[in-house]
Amino acid sequence: MGSMWWGEEAAKGAKIAVWWDMKECPIPEGYDAGRIRPSLEAAFKERGYSGPVSSITAYGDQTQTPVHILHGLLSTGVSVAHTSSESTNYILYRDIVEWRGQNPPPATMMIISNQVVGDLSWDLARLQQRSQYNLFLAYSKAPCVLSVLSTSSRWLWEKLLGDNNNNNNNNNRIETRSVQYKLSAMILCCKSCNFDCQSPEKFRKHLSSYKHARQESVYPTYKEVNRVTETWGRNYAAAPEYATAKILVWWNMFDCPIPEGYDARRVRPSLEEAFKKLGYSGPVSITAYGDLNHTPEHLLRGLSSTGVSLAHTILDVTYKRMYSDLLDGQKSNPTPTNIMVISDTDTHQAFSTPLVRLVQKQKHNLFLAYSSRPYKMFVLLPSAEWLWHSLLEVSEKRKHVLQKCSSESESDRGGESSAMLYCKVCCGGQGPDYKSLDNLRTHLSSEEHAHEVKKSQNIKHIRKAFRTGFLLLLDNHLRRRRARKSQSCRRRGSRRRAQKSPTVW
Ligand SMILES: [Zn+2]
Ligand SMILES: [Zn+2]
Repeated sequence: MGSMWWGEEAAKGAKIAVWWDMKECPIPEGYDAGRIRPSLEAAFKERGYSGPVSSITAYGDQTQTPVHILHGLLSTGVSVAHTSSESTNYILYRDIVEWRGQNPPPATMMIISNQVVGDLSWDLARLQQRSQYNLFLAYSKAPCVLSVLSTSSRWLWEKLLGDNNNNNNNNNRIETRSVQYKLSAMILCCKSCNFDCQSPEKFRKHLSSYKHARQESVYPTYKEVNRVTETWGRNYAAAPEYATAKILVWWNMFDCPIPEGYDARRVRPSLEEAFKKLGYSGPVSITAYGDLNHTPEHLLRGLSSTGVSLAHTILDVTYKRMYSDLLDGQKSNPTPTNIMVISDTDTHQAFSTPLVRLVQKQKHNLFLAYSSRPYKMFVLLPSAEWLWHSLLEVSEKRKHVLQKCSSESESDRGGESSAMLYCKVCCGGQGPDYKSLDNLRTHLSSEEHAHEVKKSQNIKHIRKAFRTGFLLLLDNHLRRRRARKSQSCRRRGSRRRAQKSPTVW
């Protein structure tokens, strides 16, 4: 699962902190609470993580938790936090955010809960894109959808506890370790009252007191976690490690076409100029995906002469090819790499899960451009984002500077020769580089190509391939797109009809 994660080695010896929702993942009936910590530690060691487990905190409504369980947890170095049931997720996440602020990576965070979904996973995935920790997850029910969070290890709660069920050696380990934990600051804490102590009896007494009941009744209930990344800004100056790193651009020309009357030779310099403004000066490689048979010759010449690679696709195939090139092609692009995706907002939204996982896994720096402003915030956390049209206009304002730029880059790259030319419809997208526009043209008008186009337009044939989560996303996206298209056709049709119908009043 996590064999490729960039920070795994650094995290292996680093500290581990654990947040545990006791309601979602309870201690099994008859299970010795003193064995929780050793079970976790054994599981971490087994996966190669030997850093100290610096904190384990158990969250939940503790009013019914028996004293012997509190004893068992506390004596083995597990802190206990009382929260009203409804606010548990909110408080647990608030503590995680606070901990991250005080404990820079490398470190491992483990969350034991079934509630690492929705706003919590959205916000944590965004935090992870900015400042990445190694992530462990345990749950009593495996989530049914692919998470936006990239984790290096996952466990089923029961399995995690049961692994050393019949192992007597563990008892010895608890004995020796408990001495050490008593010295550290393991506490019992009531989050409603901000009360803490180290005596289970005192803690239980507090939870059954009038003072606590009164406080709990006035303490506000927070059902939703606080999305701390919601107010973050859009464009950031380049971090040093990415400033001179290469920039790989995937451009969907169906979603973001070249505007009418725009000189295609200015696309590359516009992008380069926008990158430079933010402090990025690495080499830029751009691949444009589009229907080249329906793209005017002068645009194709303009793009390829400025070193923009061209990939011929047809609408339905575009998403599949572009995203699989993007997702699969990453093995050859080690960190640090900047990647940019140019597409419309819906497409970004539809493929955000695989992309956000890729960004976390590879620690890529992400740029986005879109045809219209997103109506809701992406789970993707780009370092920079642009409206497609305003990105192209960058060069409009500084034409003379850019003319110099682009003529320089042309001579640098030797013109067309550096642009690659692909047909992504044939050969499962793995076809050769045709080297010149004329060669590609010859291919696109060949019998063999026409046959492949027919094949890929046959939806039944494509459906057969929908097995993985990615292809499912693709399927949904295409279905929504087709629905939208037919809707707008109907709208246009009815408008036309409405215009034709004579006015009666
Ligand atoms: Zn209290
Ligand atoms: Zn072809």
